[in-house]
Amino acid sequence: MAEIVCLDIGGSKMLGGILSAAGAVLATRREPLSSRDPRDVAHQAAALVRALLDQTGVSPRGIGCAIPGPLDRRTGTIVHSPNLGWRNIPFAAILSQACRLPVALDDDARCAAIGEWWRGKRQHAECILFVVVGTGIGGALILHGRPIYGATDNAGEIGHTVVLIDGPRCSCGKRGCLEAVASGWALAEAGRKSARSGNAPELLTLAGGSADAVGADHVLRAARCGSPAAQGILENAGAMLGLGIANAVTLLNPQWVIIGGGVGLAGFDVVLPSIQRALRCHALAPAAQAVTIVPSSLGEHAGLVGACWIFLQAHPE
Ligand SMILES: [Zn+2]
Repeated sequence: MAEIVCLDIGGSKMLGGILSAAGAVLATRREPLSSRDPRDVAHQAAALVRALLDQTGVSPRGIGCAIPGPLDRRTGTIVHSPNLGWRNIPFAAILSQACRLPVALDDDARCAAIGEWWRGKRQHAECILFVVVGTGIGGALILHGRPIYGATDNAGEIGHTVVLIDGPRCSCGKRGCLEAVASGWALAEAGRKSARSGNAPELLTLAGGSADAVGADHVLRAARCGSPAAQGILENAGAMLGLGIANAVTLLNPQWVIIGGGVGLAGFDVVLPSIQRALRCHALAPAAQAVTIVPSSLGEHAGLVGACWIFLQAHPE
C-alpha cells in the first residue's frame, strides 16, 4: 500500500510528514509559515511535499491536510479561520492544484483527536474530548467510538465557548471566549502587559529585555523559574481552561480529556492542578469522577496521523 503525505498547517508553522497507510510516521519536516496568503501557503506546502518525497523516494496516494477551521470538509473550503485570517477559501482545490495530488482536509483539532483515537495510547477509546492549546484553542470530540462533526462540521469548538461575560475580545469577534483568556496568544498578551508594568522582571530578562518580545514560552519558562507574575498568569489561564473543560465534561461525560498543542503540551504539568481544581468545583460529580486528563501521547504528530485517517476515509482503495 502506498504512503500518504500529511500536512498540519497552523497559524505560525507547517509540519509535513510521510505516513504509511497504517498511520506510522516515516519522515517529517517542520517549517515556520512564511506567509498567510492561501496561494503562498499552498506553494510552501508543495515545496515541503517535494522535499519529503525527494528525501524518502515514495510515490504517495495523495495528501491529508489538518488545518484550522471552521471549514466545510465536503467542499474542502475554509469557511472562516481566525488563526489564518481566511474566509471562504477553497483550499483543498488550491493545494491539490499546487501539489498535483488528491487532497482531503479536516479541522486540525479534529485530526489530532482522530490521530490519538486511531493510533495513540487511547486507541479506540469510546469518548474523548480533545483540547488543543496552541496560539488559539481548538477542540474535537470522539463519542461512542466515532468522530463527531455536528450539523455544519463545527462540533467541539471549545475555544469559542464563553467563560467570561464581557471578557477580552476573541479572534472570532466575540468577547470572553476561552481562547481569549487561556490560549498561547492570551498568555503572551498577559505576559507583555505584566512585563511593561514592571511587575515581572524575570519575564523581561527571558525575553531579552523587550516587553514586546514576550511570548507564551517565556511565560511558561518564567513560571518554572519561580516568577510570581508568570505563575499568576498561568494560574488564571488554568482556572479558565478548567472552567471551559468542566462545562464540557458535564455536557459530554467523556472518559478522557486529552490536551495537545504546543502550549498545552509544554505547560501540561503546570496547568493540570488548576484544571483538576476547576473540575472538582464546577463539573457534575459523576462526570468529573469518570474523566482522566492526559497529554496527547502522539505529541505534535497527532494531527498528521489524523490527517492520514481522513485521507484514507475520503479515498479508500
Ligand atoms: Zn471566540
